[in-house]
Amino acid sequence: MKYVSTRGQTDPVGFREAVMMGLARDGGLLLPEAIPDASAALERWRPLDYRALACEVMSLYTDVPAETTRRVIGKSYATFAHDEVTPVSRVGEAFILELFHGPTLAFKDVALQYLGHLFELILGEENRRLNILAATSGDTGSAAIHGVRGREGIRIFVMHPHGKISVIQEKQMTSVLDSNVFNIAVDGTFDDCQGIMKTIFNDLAFKDRYELGSVNSINWARVLAQIVYYFYAAFRVMDATSADRVRFSVPTGNFGDILAGYMAARMGLPVGALVLATNENDILSRFFNTGVYSLGAVHATLSPSMDIQVASNFERYLYCRVGEDAARLRGMMSEFHETKSLSIEPRPDGSIDDLFVAGVGDRAATLATIEDFNDKYDYLLDPHTAVGVHVGLQYLSDDEPMICLATAHPAKFPGAIREATGKDIAKHPIVDALADLPTRCEVLPASPDSLKDYLANAIAGGTARLT
Ligand SMILES: *Cc1c(COP(=O)(O)O)cnc(C)c1O
Repeated sequence: MKYVSTRGQTDPVGFREAVMMGLARDGGLLLPEAIPDASAALERWRPLDYRALACEVMSLYTDVPAETTRRVIGKSYATFAHDEVTPVSRVGEAFILELFHGPTLAFKDVALQYLGHLFELILGEENRRLNILAATSGDTGSAAIHGVRGREGIRIFVMHPHGKISVIQEKQMTSVLDSNVFNIAVDGTFDDCQGIMKTIFNDLAFKDRYELGSVNSINWARVLAQIVYYFYAAFRVMDATSADRVRFSVPTGNFGDILAGYMAARMGLPVGALVLATNENDILSRFFNTGVYSLGAVHATLSPSMDIQVASNFERYLYCRVGEDAARLRGMMSEFHETKSLSIEPRPDGSIDDLFVAGVGDRAATLATIEDFNDKYDYLLDPHTAVGVHVGLQYLSDDEPMICLATAHPAKFPGAIREATGKDIAKHPIVDALADLPTRCEVLPASPDSLKDYLANAIAGGTARLT
């Protein structure tokens, strides 16, 4: 399988190169040159357990030998607390797909545990090293750190804004003491962290010299790992009901998770609708209702991992939506760059897409949904999941069961749970244990030069200091 850029100005690359590259060299995102058709395999795949299914799905997209993929998958999901990796259960009128049984209790573990092992494999084969630089406002940093801790040939440097992330999120990162993990609290905001990262990645000589790479959600391997659970969940729900088609509701920020659902549907999984749910940061739900994608201000909400305006994976969808016309896509992206807005023509029936529908779950809806599910079903939703459930319940149908993706464990967001229920009932032993763990973190000024000095020194063999 070869991968092409959405901007159409680089030569196709193989799977390993696509994984190591992240962003394509022409600034576009990489996609498989053809989406494989799995319709004929569905009956054979249906009885498989999660890991075996993952091997089948991945073998369509990679040139890694099946035996190696099996080993990588086995190691990736050994850290999950549930046998099924991503179990599904019926709760009220919906099915909940629990994606939070990984080490950091958020769905990002599903992809980042896999990516960590995949990096290790590729680096080992090619005798290369990788120094990952990341900026985080919360969940991504901890999932990335847990994905590569202790991995051969990899160091990870994660910047977070000093004192500006939740105590749980900070502890989940700084309590990882492996010698290849470097936590950096930047005296500034999340935007400062991202700015520093951009400056450093734009210094190509520095980037090459220090073998810098990234783990952000545009990496194709992250999307690939997420495709698997759409198949897995659909099969379990079709087994449990007489349905032969399902719907998914997905709480969305960067459009990474729901893009995987779109790919699964394009591969032939019988999906009747993809419900895109946002919080008050609603650029994507406005797009799927009006065809206009225009930038708004970022609001702080109860679901902070979705507090995003420019959705980095959206370009992959747009490319497909405009018939894989890279020249047209380039025009749209430069229009967006200049005017902060782009638009597409509705379809003849007035809709924007035949698969996606979209809506918003605001603060009040988030709290009400958490309270309602706790009262009625004794089931605690985290605030991100609650946004998806709130919108998903507006699109129920008689013959297509609704599967709502649960993207984090409620214990990661005890404040929202307390506000919704009036009680401190969101608990998890992983979170409880954090309080007593020793931590390590370096505080640095918000300047690219101090970061560069720190990186150069650490990569040259300086070790991280215990504080
Ligand atoms: C990252 C994240 C999301 C949003 O996922 P995208 O792939 O960015 O759309 C939703 N919920 C939680 C808990 C997350 O960490």
